[in-house]
Amino acid sequence: MALVVQKYGGTSVGTIDRIRNVASRVAKTYDEGHQLVVVLSAMSGETNKLVGWARELCDHPDDREYDALVSSGEQVTISLLAMCLKSMGYQARSYLGHQVPIITSDDYSRARIEHIGSEKLRADLEAGTIVVVAGFQGMDRCGNLTTLGRGGSDTSAVALAAALNAQVCEIYTDVDGVYTTDPRIVPNASKISRISYDEMLEMASLGAKVLQTRSVEFAKKYGVVVHVRSSFNDNQGTLVMKEDSDMETVLVSGITYNKDEAKISVMRVPDKPGVASQLFLPLSEKNITVDMIIQNVSSEGYTDLTFTVPHGDFKKALKVVEATGEQIGAAGVLVDENIAKISIVGVGMRSHSGVASKMFQVLSQEGINIQMISTSEIKVSCVIDVKYTELAVRVLHEAFELGSEAVTAE
Ligand code: ASP
Ligand code: MG
Repeated sequence: MALVVQKYGGTSVGTIDRIRNVASRVAKTYDEGHQLVVVLSAMSGETNKLVGWARELCDHPDDREYDALVSSGEQVTISLLAMCLKSMGYQARSYLGHQVPIITSDDYSRARIEHIGSEKLRADLEAGTIVVVAGFQGMDRCGNLTTLGRGGSDTSAVALAAALNAQVCEIYTDVDGVYTTDPRIVPNASKISRISYDEMLEMASLGAKVLQTRSVEFAKKYGVVVHVRSSFNDNQGTLVMKEDSDMETVLVSGITYNKDEAKISVMRVPDKPGVASQLFLPLSEKNITVDMIIQNVSSEGYTDLTFTVPHGDFKKALKVVEATGEQIGAAGVLVDENIAKISIVGVGMRSHSGVASKMFQVLSQEGINIQMISTSEIKVSCVIDVKYTELAVRVLHEAFELGSEAVTAE
């Protein structure tokens, strides 16, 4: 008998019929003799609807009330599922985050899980009850409702799996695993059977929207094996797990793209100590996350600084940068909102050379200009004109032979 955590995303619980489908999957796992904690998202579209209402009502909704509002979608799905399971003759019990309790920090909309009280859940599981927990939400130490960031029910599920020492955390979604790239762009993209935490972290933060990045960080920290699979079939999905030596033989595991960033260049910044900090400190104070940063070689005591920010923060960032640019005596600010970041990811890059240069060559053969480059141990990212996104993904996928068997090193 194993303890299994299953998380079902919004599309998997999007209608009453689909909730019935989830109930029968849950029942099947239970009948196989497992203890079961089920974590649910809100019905697909519901959280967006709640966010929309808040925005319609006011420009800057109150943080506390915003979280109380947007966390409500999950209350609907957990009660419906528990109700359905009970009507089928199973013992089931729904829990909101604070009923567990899932204790978080007090950063509304981006709270971090700090502690999970597992006693009640354990008692239920011992008694043969199927536990159904609302994802995405928790409670801070003062009793206020909090949420974990969009897509946060993945993190709820992994955190519960860690707290309860579950054998596996199954994340059910509308795709049956993690693919080498977006199958809408490359129809012969292949499903990755096993991927390391580090690769998944890069893929998740670079735009593969299968798992919330924070959930992968959590899984890595606590060694939770995550199985990403579909709730609409029984196919084996993708296992996200600790790296093993086999994984290093694959040079590139996946290709991702992100059209969600804009580029800001500050021209002719005086090249002296403290300037970068003067530019970036006000951005961080406004909670704007800067992604790629490039600083050019200085000439005549000046340098150009270019960086990217999420589209959502672009206007705010520009205002801040224009103001500080003036203060530090920059010549001006240039912007480009039509960019995409294309990345190749693979743990094999740690031990093999030539991967980045192959990427640059493939892009140049298509006449695609590279505007910015950044690398980590296991990824190379290039910023290009957004209109070449699909082309770049396609040619890179082909060049690294990801459609069939991945390229393996000798
Ligand atoms: N319902 C929340 C959202 O839409 C949490 C989740 O689905 O993971 O972001
Ligand atoms: Mg999701």
